[in-house]
Amino acid sequence: MSKLPSVGTSIFSVMSKMALEHKAINLSQGFPNFPIDERLTEIHSRIVLEAQSNQYCPMTGHPQLLDGLQRLILQSYGRTVNPATELLVTAGATQAIFTILQALADKGDEVIVLDPCYDSYESAIILSGAKPVHVALNEHYLPDWNAIEKAITPNTRFILTNDPHNPSGRIWSERDYEALETLVEKNPHLLVLSDEVYEYITFEKKHISINQRSKLHERALSVSSFGKTFHITGWKIGYIVAPQHLMDEIKKVHQFLVFCVNSTAQATLAAYLDVVNVNELGRFYQQKRDVFQSLMNGSRFELLPSEGTYFQLASYANISNEDDVTFTKRILTEHQVATIPVSVFNADGRDLKHIRFCFAKTDETLIQAAEKLKHI
Ligand code: PMP
Ligand code: GLN
Repeated sequence: MSKLPSVGTSIFSVMSKMALEHKAINLSQGFPNFPIDERLTEIHSRIVLEAQSNQYCPMTGHPQLLDGLQRLILQSYGRTVNPATELLVTAGATQAIFTILQALADKGDEVIVLDPCYDSYESAIILSGAKPVHVALNEHYLPDWNAIEKAITPNTRFILTNDPHNPSGRIWSERDYEALETLVEKNPHLLVLSDEVYEYITFEKKHISINQRSKLHERALSVSSFGKTFHITGWKIGYIVAPQHLMDEIKKVHQFLVFCVNSTAQATLAAYLDVVNVNELGRFYQQKRDVFQSLMNGSRFELLPSEGTYFQLASYANISNEDDVTFTKRILTEHQVATIPVSVFNADGRDLKHIRFCFAKTDETLIQAAEKLKHI
């Protein structure tokens, strides 16, 4: 018996393992390969030496981190949340999403996801008992609001959104949020689960958060991740913002799934939030994107717009007719560059011959990778 009969190993594990085996440059799984901020390392060392944060912290989060998050959300989005009732620190965004769905979605419910989408959504929905309903994003990887509206039934419990979007790097406009608000208004049974893990990684355009949309506050939950914001994907610390009536249910699940998450990391992040400026992150990654894009000039890949995240999509239609999984595996073994095929994020396997590069890498790594990619 399997609760997830059609699920295999995540593409991220598959590609990173193959990259190691073939000594390939790994632009597949999304994680930075450069050192973290020295201040973060220093604070972490001090917290470890002080040995004050080695035991369980309160179930919903380290009190100082909850206060820091309250200030961050106020400063970023002008929303005042109550740290005691509307915030929860989780083991990354993955646990946040899983926990929300366990608590609030049930058998008979439907959850709309917009394809291509991050691979944990589908399994988290199925394990909650609900049914995933896949709606394709349009050819520009932006929402098709007519198609989304058509997919809503009396059983739709959630629409799961992701902006800035993995894998495309597209970001939503004011008009998209107005359309979302209209849908929520028209459908009183509908909640929004807004995955905003790349909220601080945007370039020319600014990210719009559901935390800025007061019309949505009672019916929407946001999820974020310090993994992305502070280059620490391995720390696995994220958080949920939700109205109290929903958060009360989420806490019931969280307390028996993990109780609380890593106290040392939480104490470190609380102190780091006092000294760091999250608004520098967009500029940092914009420069990486620009370096990668200019290095790829003259390659046969056609680069698509990347407006946020640390991902760059490219079409290889000029290079090969292979399906994207075959193509990415071949360039990994023959040219030693690991990338991600986009079709694996589509429930119907739709293959537009697009692959994803992660540019959260040192300039040296990007130079070496582009050198190889230009020969394909
Ligand atoms: N959502 C999206 C869109 C992601 O790209 C990721 C990270 N790859 C996550 C959620 C999970 O974040 P975390 O590592 O904090 O669990
Ligand atoms: N979110 C990361 C990516 O898209 C990977 C996360 C993971 O490996 N689970 O590459």
